Amino acid sequence: MKAHPDMTSDPSDLGPSTRLLRAGHAPARFHGFVNPPVVHASTVLFPDTETMRRRGQPYTYALRGTPTTEALELALDELEGSAGTILVPSGLAAISIPLLAFLGAGDHCLVVDSCYGPTRLFCDTMLRRLGVETEYFDPGIGAGLSALLRPNTRVVFLEAPGSNTFEMMDVAQACEIARSHGAVTMLDNTWATPLLFRPLDHGVDMSIHALTKYPGGHSDVMIGSVSANAATFKRLRDAQMQLGVNVSPDDAYLTFRGLKTMPVRLKAHETSALELAHWLETRPEVARVLHPALPSFEGHALWKRQFKGSSGLFSFVLAGSDRRTAARFLDALRLFGLGFSWGGFESLALDADLDDRQVARAPAEGRVIRLQVGLEDVADLRKDLERGFAAFAD
Ligand SMILES: *Cc1c(COP(=O)(O)O)cnc(C)c1O
Repeated sequence: MKAHPDMTSDPSDLGPSTRLLRAGHAPARFHGFVNPPVVHASTVLFPDTETMRRRGQPYTYALRGTPTTEALELALDELEGSAGTILVPSGLAAISIPLLAFLGAGDHCLVVDSCYGPTRLFCDTMLRRLGVETEYFDPGIGAGLSALLRPNTRVVFLEAPGSNTFEMMDVAQACEIARSHGAVTMLDNTWATPLLFRPLDHGVDMSIHALTKYPGGHSDVMIGSVSANAATFKRLRDAQMQLGVNVSPDDAYLTFRGLKTMPVRLKAHETSALELAHWLETRPEVARVLHPALPSFEGHALWKRQFKGSSGLFSFVLAGSDRRTAARFLDALRLFGLGFSWGGFESLALDADLDDRQVARAPAEGRVIRLQVGLEDVADLRKDLERGFAAFAD
């Protein structure tokens, strides 16, 4: 059961940052404390057997939700415009669980070829073992998607922009095609966060987040979410409960806390990333910058039409590089750390692995270097990249 926050004005009157700060928690329910309690729990007591039999109270068992997980779920519903949200222990679980919820033996699943790598691994291993056939499609397919849908296609899985290479797609068009063939749509919305893109407004059924990234924002928590519309939420929640997964109160709390500062952090990530992206375009060592907000980027018009802004993750193609020379660039960096994940306060860099792509092939001009631009002073980050270029040229 949902406990609604103390909203006196119509939330639709409020800007996204104001809504975000007010969403999900009702201080009056907890003695006026500004933040929700961190409820460590398993058992919840009932006053009598009749109430127990009816499950007639807001909380029944901690797996099904606590005031802490509920606060985060409600905040995400507010941001995504969803009917309900589930919380899971990682962004990857936020991909695998909805796929398990909506696919079974004999089904066909369409997945965008520029998806997050472990999405592909899940489809090619566990889904295959369970009798689900996955087919990958070009993110630039447009209306051609229609020809790939079969009578047994149950899910169309999208990610925009694509992982590592940032291909854009027309989300509303893909969803309309999927819906007209009776398939549900899921979109991995991690890059944009709900502040920059609201998938459900474009016809997506389920919006997926690695909350590990910007919502957590401090590289100290692993957590994921799936926010669903009214047509798909029950099946999603049922699958979560059948599998028996939820998140710890501490992780839910850290993420709820992180959300409060996400608008300002995201703005800072965006500004610094754009400054570096423009600068990288002028560098002779760079064949191409892959950043949706750059006018030179192939998917720029699609991005501009659908997204409210850009975040701090983008890539560039290191001209003429191979794995060995790209490593010279990366190993010379002092401020950009070498590490997976992103969305934290610290800058990161890596040589993107695109070997598994089937149709959305890796650029031919050199290795794709992915940068997560953190909250450091941007002049320091530029100097660090110059250090990398110097080592690359040696
Ligand atoms: C990181 C990431 C995930 C997975 O998140 P984890 O919390 O690390 O499991 C999913 N999708 C995208 C696009 C990501 O970048």
